[in-house]
Amino acid sequence: AGCAQYMRLCQPLKRAQVAGWHSRKAGFSLYPTIKRALVAYTLSKEGRAVRLSLLGSTGSIGTQALEVIRGLNQDGGFPVEVEVLAARSNVELLERQAREFRPKAVAVFDLAAAKDLRVRTRDLDMVVLEGMEGLCQAAAWETVDTTLNAVVGMVGLQPTMAAVRAKKRLALANKETLVAGGSLVRGAAREMGVEVLPVDSEHSAIFQCLQGSPGDRAVKRLILTASGGPFFGWGREKLAAVTPEQALCHPNWDMGAKITIDCATMMNKGLEVIEAAWLFHMPVERIGVVVHRESVVHSMVEFADNAVVAQMGTPDMRVPIQYALAYPRRLPSPAGALDLPALGQLTFYEPDRKAFPCLDVCIDAFKRGGLAPAAANGANEVAVQLFLEKKISFLEIPQLVSAAAQAQPALEPTTVEDVLEADRAARQRVKGLL
Ligand code: NDP
Ligand code: MG
Repeated sequence: AGCAQYMRLCQPLKRAQVAGWHSRKAGFSLYPTIKRALVAYTLSKEGRAVRLSLLGSTGSIGTQALEVIRGLNQDGGFPVEVEVLAARSNVELLERQAREFRPKAVAVFDLAAAKDLRVRTRDLDMVVLEGMEGLCQAAAWETVDTTLNAVVGMVGLQPTMAAVRAKKRLALANKETLVAGGSLVRGAAREMGVEVLPVDSEHSAIFQCLQGSPGDRAVKRLILTASGGPFFGWGREKLAAVTPEQALCHPNWDMGAKITIDCATMMNKGLEVIEAAWLFHMPVERIGVVVHRESVVHSMVEFADNAVVAQMGTPDMRVPIQYALAYPRRLPSPAGALDLPALGQLTFYEPDRKAFPCLDVCIDAFKRGGLAPAAANGANEVAVQLFLEKKISFLEIPQLVSAAAQAQPALEPTTVEDVLEADRAARQRVKGLL
């Protein structure tokens, strides 16, 4: 890539030289000097480490991102400097991560935990930031060039906006950000010229399938795959008695609790349809969902000629995380290689939209537009928590999400505060209905 970039940079110089731009009469040429400077510039740019702010470093995505970074740093081919870490309250793990990666700053959302971390890390040359302000400072930290947002939930919206406004390249795992505030995030990213790189495996797959595509008009449809979760094939009667312990057992992926429940209800796929609509500027009518039990085909793009390009691999989040960090490079990964004969077969089914209504609730909310998806997302975050606390049943989750989305007036958000207000109203509504 460095070589290609160098050749591109040299093109105008070569033309200038041919046109006699440098003076032969003067007996010397500027060309070799400029050429040397260009090579030095190109190599320094290519060889420089990515300077990263990692939000949600203690979670499933965050810890896997740090594993990826260890691997990239060991190989030496693609150094990543972790300049900032952030989490909510897990100070024990944050301290260990800080001692290993030596960031310049750590942001802790919880104020008491921030105080605790300051005491624990007195001997380190590191700033401890706190609260939402700290999280936003972490996202926009001056010396970082890439922010990986892997916090869970709506709390990620303000840090995402802070990163975009500070022109950081954004690697986005936090799908709730796009579901609730997609128009604002997309608008700000366009205005600031910021790249948003998907980390979610389906969206990374689509992004990979689109590399080298001849343009938007060549794309007919995006096809998201869904594992179907632990309750694939179950009817509503059986689902009524589902416990949190059962719902927390995902067949293929090891993830945080909230997204694991979202997979069981298929809310996750609904959120992902909206996420795909914002990321790839695609009407939801042109985003399909198929259940694919093996989670080997991570998603697909159907082109105008009906050719379908799929991205496949073992289910391992370290692949999409690394792709987002190193994009557009392809580098060795700790993820296992795919052994298709060992798998034998890949299966595909229509989703059961009656047993798992959250999928259509999300699509309907997106079609309604404005703040309806923010309300659906906010209601879901509370409903999942209540289900985990055994205060509501599994089937009440879609009911509460649907009611909140429908109660939300279809207004377009103009500020982040509008989105936060819709989110707050939906949460209140769910709590009030109990
Ligand atoms: P986890 O629950 O494992 O981790 C959540 C992380 O967010 C933790 O580091 C947690 O800190 C931090 N966090 C939570 N609340 C706050 C807050 N108020 N302020 C700062 N940090 C906070 O979640 P996952 O890693 O599973 O998911 C993260 C995001 O990535 C979600 O949006 C999810 O949908 C998405 N995603 C996850 C996938 C996966 O495989 N896990 C796949 C695709 C997308 P602490 O530990 O201190 O609580
Ligand atoms: Mg996903």
